[in-house]
Amino acid sequence: MQVSLAESPYDFELDRVIDWVRRNNFKKVLLQSAPGLIRYLPEIGGYIKQMTGADTIVDGRGRFGACDVYTNLTGFEAVVHFGHTGFINTSYPILYIPAFSNIDASKLFLKILDALSNMEKVGLSASVQHIKTIPSLYEYLARNGKKPFMGQPGKRCLYPGQVVGCDYLSAIRIDSKVDCHVIIAGGEFHAIGLALSVFKPVLHVEPYAGSVEWVSKSKVDRVNRVRGFAALTLQSAKKVALVDISLPGQHTSSLIEKLEVFLRHVKPSSQVNSFTTELLTDQFLLGLKELGYEVVVTAGCTRFATDDFDRSPIPIFEAREVYGLYLKGLNVDKGVFILQ
Ligand code: SF4
Repeated sequence: MQVSLAESPYDFELDRVIDWVRRNNFKKVLLQSAPGLIRYLPEIGGYIKQMTGADTIVDGRGRFGACDVYTNLTGFEAVVHFGHTGFINTSYPILYIPAFSNIDASKLFLKILDALSNMEKVGLSASVQHIKTIPSLYEYLARNGKKPFMGQPGKRCLYPGQVVGCDYLSAIRIDSKVDCHVIIAGGEFHAIGLALSVFKPVLHVEPYAGSVEWVSKSKVDRVNRVRGFAALTLQSAKKVALVDISLPGQHTSSLIEKLEVFLRHVKPSSQVNSFTTELLTDQFLLGLKELGYEVVVTAGCTRFATDDFDRSPIPIFEAREVYGLYLKGLNVDKGVFILQ
């Protein structure tokens, strides 16, 4: 399918990209993006070539976050990465372009106000694509009798109110002050992740679908049931696979090493082995299953334990919850989905 940048609902900040490539005199640049943006990269690459003379190649795998980049770069001088804000240090230059959405979410403000009729103090959050809508929503709600709040970002975010799947700190910081949270984000992933991370109700504004809906208890319960099942499996498992993810922003070998010692102590009759991989692919998980492993404990992206669980052939348990499970008993009402 031919796609055109002119029709794209995103701001790729191409002037900034061109300026960065020219200033640094890069001649070979790798283009990466979040999965949904890859289709725009060939045209962006052509434009960069035309404006700077630099050769560009499109990285064929959609990148799930700013963490999902190469440890070392070979064959290129630099990377332009669209769709996320950066939070890791790499040995090579990366320019992160958030790809802010151009969709006018203000059309949904009245719907949001209606949904908030019984609420006064409202926390505001957004994925980075929609973060620019937050200040105008803040003003709109304040003008209409609400008390809006925006939390300062965690270490994996850049803007007040911004959340990513492993960092909901901006919302957690204001949770005790508000009656509910409003999150503007495409898809359900961030809205459900937020609902798992705070104690107040979450109103999900989906700008692409134009919908404004409270995150239902059944959706949150579904994730928690799966987490509970993975916890029970871990407690009974005779073979446990501990998996470190080698991506620069997810790599936590020290936690995996500590967990190996801890699990061998609390499960002395079980076999606990450590693995490393770049991605938890179906093939890798099936291979572990064939080797007799009953559960995967990973310190990688929280998405593995909360979003991809439907397709996993083995229950996946979040490594940071292991101590809580054995020392306090798992609190399946709330997640600990913060990598800090
Ligand atoms: S760890 Fe997962 S949620 Fe966090 S930035 Fe990386 S891909 Fe996104």
